[in-house]
Amino acid sequence: MSIDTIGIVGAGTMGSGIAQVCATSGLKVVMIDVSDAALTKGLATIASSLDRLIKKEKITAADKDAALAQIRTSTNYDDLKGAQLVIEAATENLELKIKILRQLDGLLAPETLIATNTSSISITQLAAVTGRADRFIGMHFFNPVPMMALVEIIRGLQTSDATHDTVRELALKLGKTPITVKNSPGFVVNRILVPMINEAFFVLAEGLASPEDIDAGMKLGCNHPIGPLALADMIGLDVCLAVMNVYFAEFNDSKYRPCPLLKEMVAAGYLGRKTGRGVYAYA
Ligand code: NAD
Repeated sequence: MSIDTIGIVGAGTMGSGIAQVCATSGLKVVMIDVSDAALTKGLATIASSLDRLIKKEKITAADKDAALAQIRTSTNYDDLKGAQLVIEAATENLELKIKILRQLDGLLAPETLIATNTSSISITQLAAVTGRADRFIGMHFFNPVPMMALVEIIRGLQTSDATHDTVRELALKLGKTPITVKNSPGFVVNRILVPMINEAFFVLAEGLASPEDIDAGMKLGCNHPIGPLALADMIGLDVCLAVMNVYFAEFNDSKYRPCPLLKEMVAAGYLGRKTGRGVYAYA
């Protein structure tokens, strides 16, 4: 199937980023959110991201205008009808996503593909609430979308080869590097990343090294651009804990036991950069 128009549900951090890369790749975009304020904010995010690319001389002012001209915004789901693929990038909430997917399934043409950008909800479970489970797939972009090269393409149990191949082609067209993953909690990247962060908290709790030295160790010894504890502060300690709790429950395996120090810090409200204090203190 050839794709020239993409629908995007949600104009937040991820939806606006996805809209930007689709538009700069020459695709028409219809971006939906619940309010004009959310759409205006999403468009402003895209415009300032494009401005940064102009400053870095990666694109021209004319490229920016051309990209913005590709994006139509609306609060009316009916405007998604012309899209060949709709990417759901709304708030991470199971009930909300089920409601949105049922609505999309009811109004889109039968051949239209639906993808979700969820970080944590089962693709197989979401596919099952639609009447087109074979035409449903996970498309997990990374933040910030215009900068991050990876897209995890997650096949639910029901996803067809044709759907997978079309979405993989699209990811390549967007200039991304896709990896194909079977549906499972955390997919590939977060399945490895978050337990590594959790282990860094165990190392810290055991007093093996200072936070600075743990982070320096992983930066200099593994070439990671940021240490695991500084990364936890960026992601949010509460988010890291919630993810470990999901793995612990879903796999029923003690290797995913959340570190007691991580739990203790979350209980104290030390959530990271967003609260001014996590492993490190922020001004
Ligand atoms: P966000 O809060 O920045 O944006 C969510 C947007 O969805 C908001 O603008 C909200 O108004 C909108 N929305 C809520 N209900 C809606 C509805 N019924 N119809 C249309 N729009 C609706 O969230 P985000 O960080 O962009 O996350 C979106 C999705 O991407 C989530 O599933 C999240 O798990 C996933 N994700 C996030 C990241 C990240 O680093 N932020 C990374 C990968 C994947």
